[in-house]
Amino acid sequence: MLRQLRRAALTILKRSGSFELVKNSNWRQQKLLILCYHGVSVEDEDQWRPYLYMTAEQLDRRLNILRDGRYAVLPLAEALQRLYRKDLPPRSVALTFDDGGYDFYKRAWPALKQYDFPATVYLTTYYSAAQRPIFNLIVSYLLWKGQYAARVDLAEYGIDFPTDLRSGESREQIVSRMLEWTERRSLSGKEKDQTAASLASRLGIDYETLCRKRILQIMNSNEVKQLTSEGVDFQLHTHRHRTPATEELFRREIRDNREWIINLIGGGREHFCYPSGAYRPEFLSWLAKEKVVSATTCDTGLATHASNPLLLPRLIDTSMRTDLEFESWLSGVGHFLSRRSPGAFAYVAD
Ligand SMILES: [Zn+2]
Repeated sequence: MLRQLRRAALTILKRSGSFELVKNSNWRQQKLLILCYHGVSVEDEDQWRPYLYMTAEQLDRRLNILRDGRYAVLPLAEALQRLYRKDLPPRSVALTFDDGGYDFYKRAWPALKQYDFPATVYLTTYYSAAQRPIFNLIVSYLLWKGQYAARVDLAEYGIDFPTDLRSGESREQIVSRMLEWTERRSLSGKEKDQTAASLASRLGIDYETLCRKRILQIMNSNEVKQLTSEGVDFQLHTHRHRTPATEELFRREIRDNREWIINLIGGGREHFCYPSGAYRPEFLSWLAKEKVVSATTCDTGLATHASNPLLLPRLIDTSMRTDLEFESWLSGVGHFLSRRSPGAFAYVAD
């Protein structure tokens, strides 16, 4: 109901010219909208997790809105420099993509190239070398794909309760129980992958075909190198997509991640994105010690020159948002209509 009311209000505001007014205002010119994308479906991932993925068609519509609305899509580093120097051009936007999935290579970058828009990819590196699907994500995806399979016995993965794969809640319960089960056994990456393969076979899904399509995989070294040569900016997102609570382990995540990227494509890796948008106050000094100059969160909002550079807000854009809502944020109108709560966002890619 609230959502419908908000959409009705946005339609009226757009028709009355308010979007144009705010978008070209001095107020908006002092702000930077950093957009956050997670995934663009290689196949049907947006139907599995609409709050993380969108289709290539939807991304294309968004890029079209950016172009037609004459938004200044800037490289992230330049956008941040100009934000703090207070010389942003009118209608500034920066595009960021989290994780560095193969879907970025296959779907997002070809679209961005058509519009000549720069993008930053926050690359998590452990699975880039592994070249297999991210375990906790593929388990959830397989259960979703296999939801209509006849009653499945999952006791061999530690699932000792009745399961109903048609219920999203039940599937998520199975995923967390399976993750605990693999954790307790300290399974290696290879063993986890074998577990995923065996689960797929139990559900009647051809796992190797999914692997060949590179669904839920991170870009490999050659793809990262190729996109770097085409202008993509790769930045830090921790090696294993996690933020340990102790300084030593936290900083090791940053260093491992950075070293991997630098070995591949060279230096200049000083921008960071908190995995799952999760941060604690002590992370800021640890990041500063690692000479990280900016860090983005999943908290919703426009960045201003008063924003802490290590706690930059973004707007998460997924298939859950309509084009109108998206445009309201580009113009700045969305800022006035949003509940400014931090983005509650549970996502772990390891
Ligand atoms: Zn991430």
